[in-house]
Amino acid sequence: MASKPLTGAPSSMVGDNGRKAISTPNDRGVVGSRPPSMESSNSQPSAPVKRKSVYENVMAQFDKAADLMHLDANIRKILAKTENEISVNFPVKMHTGQVEMFTGYRIQHNDALGPFKGGLRYHPSVDRDEVRALAAWMTWKAAIAEIPFGGAKGGLQIDPSDYSAAELERITRRFAYALGDNIGPEYDIPAPDVNTNSQIMAWIQDTYLSTISPHERHRNIHVVTGKPVVSGGSLGRDKATGQGVVFTIEQWAEHREVSLEGATFIVQGFGNVGSWASRLLTQLGAKLIAVEDATGGIRNRDGINPDDLLEYVHTHGGVRKYPKGEFVDHIMFLRTEADVFIPAALGNQITAETAPWLNVRLVAEGANGPTTPEGDAVLQQRGIDVIPDILCNTGGVIVSYFEGLQNKRKEFWDLEEVDRKLRKKITSAYKRVYDVATEKKTDWRTAAYIVALSRLEMVYKDRGIFP
Ligand code: GLU
Repeated sequence: MASKPLTGAPSSMVGDNGRKAISTPNDRGVVGSRPPSMESSNSQPSAPVKRKSVYENVMAQFDKAADLMHLDANIRKILAKTENEISVNFPVKMHTGQVEMFTGYRIQHNDALGPFKGGLRYHPSVDRDEVRALAAWMTWKAAIAEIPFGGAKGGLQIDPSDYSAAELERITRRFAYALGDNIGPEYDIPAPDVNTNSQIMAWIQDTYLSTISPHERHRNIHVVTGKPVVSGGSLGRDKATGQGVVFTIEQWAEHREVSLEGATFIVQGFGNVGSWASRLLTQLGAKLIAVEDATGGIRNRDGINPDDLLEYVHTHGGVRKYPKGEFVDHIMFLRTEADVFIPAALGNQITAETAPWLNVRLVAEGANGPTTPEGDAVLQQRGIDVIPDILCNTGGVIVSYFEGLQNKRKEFWDLEEVDRKLRKKITSAYKRVYDVATEKKTDWRTAAYIVALSRLEMVYKDRGIFP
C-alpha cells in the first residue's frame, strides 16, 4: 500500500429442544466466552494490576474531551451519570423442568436527543458496569451521527451456547416481558449486539406487541430494530455495522492518500461485524491475512477468503482449525504486520500491554470499547491512527434509524438507497470528527467526544434544566 506520511490529526440459530445446538452469529463476533489462553498466552507473569472498570474508561475518555472543550460544568455533571438503571430478575423453565433465575439489565444513559437506543448483549461478561459504559457510548454515537436517539444498552449475563433454541426463546421473551414499559418504540428501542441477532429481536417484538392492544400493534413494530426483513427489518441492517466500518476506512484511506487495493488487514472477531467488514473490504481489493476469535487465531499471508472462512465458521463454530491458514496464538495474531486492524469482538483488547505489539497503521474499531485509555496513549505515541468506536461502528445504529423511519412511514427502501444514505451520514460524521481533530490538534477519540458533547451541550443550553 503506497502511502504518504500522516499529518494532522447470519442468522443461523439452529437446534431444537436438545441442548448444544445453538450458534448465534452476532453483531460482534463472539460466540461464548473467551478462553483464558486468549488473554494470557505466552505472557510473562506480572504483578497484579488493578484493572479499571469499563465505565471508568468511558469517564476517562469523557473527562479528557470535556476538559479540552471546557464543557459546561453543570452539563458535565448530567452526562457523567446514567438516567435510569433497570435490572430485572425473572424465572424461566428449562428443558429439564427445573426453573433457572436470570438477571437482565437495561441501562438508559441519556435521552436528550431522542428515545433511548442501543443493543442487547448476551454474554458472560455482561454486568452493570459494562452495560453502563455501553449505554454511554450509544449516546455519543447517536450525537456524532446526528440521528435523533439517546443512548441505552442492555443484556443478560449468559452464554447462549449453554441453552437450546427453545430455552433461548423463552429466556428472551421472559426478559422482554420483565422489561415491560421500560422499552417502547418511542421510548427505548433495543437492537442486536454481541450474541443477539434478528431472531432474538423478532421474539422481543412479538412479546411486546402481544402485550398491547391489537389496534396498536402495527403502529409499534419499531419497538426493536435489526429485526428480520419480513417483520419490518431494513435491507442492509444486517451488514450495516461492518459496512459503516468499511466506509470510514475508505474515508481514512482517502484523506491519508493511501490505496486500499492490495492493502492488508487483520480482524478480531468473526461474527456479524468482523465477517461483513472483511467481505466488504476484500471487495475493495484489500487482503485479509489474519483472523482471531474466541476459539483461536489463523493467519495466511497470501490472503484468506472471508466467504469461505464464514462458511467454515458456521459449520465448525470458530476459526481455530480453518485448514487454509496456520494457527497463531493471541500474541502472534496481534503482532501480524498489516495496514489495518479491525477489532470486532469484545472490549479492552488494546491495552498498555498489547498496544506495543501491534504492527499496523490504522485501528478501525468495529467493537465497542476495544481500546483502554492506556492502550490509546501507546497507539498515539506510536503514531498509529485510530478511527474510534463511537464513529467507526455507528453504521448499525444509523441503519436502525432508517429502519424505524421505514416502519413509521410504512415504506420499504431498496438496498442501494440504504447504502447511499448510510454512506452520506457516516461520511459527514467522519468529516465532523476530522475537522475537530485538526482544529483542536487532538486525537480522534477526543475529537469524536467533542463532537458528541458539543451537540448535547447545545441541546441542554437551549432547553435549560427543569424546573
Ligand atoms: N449494537 C449496535 C451498537 O452497539 C447497534 C445498536 C442499535 O442499532 O441500536 O451500536
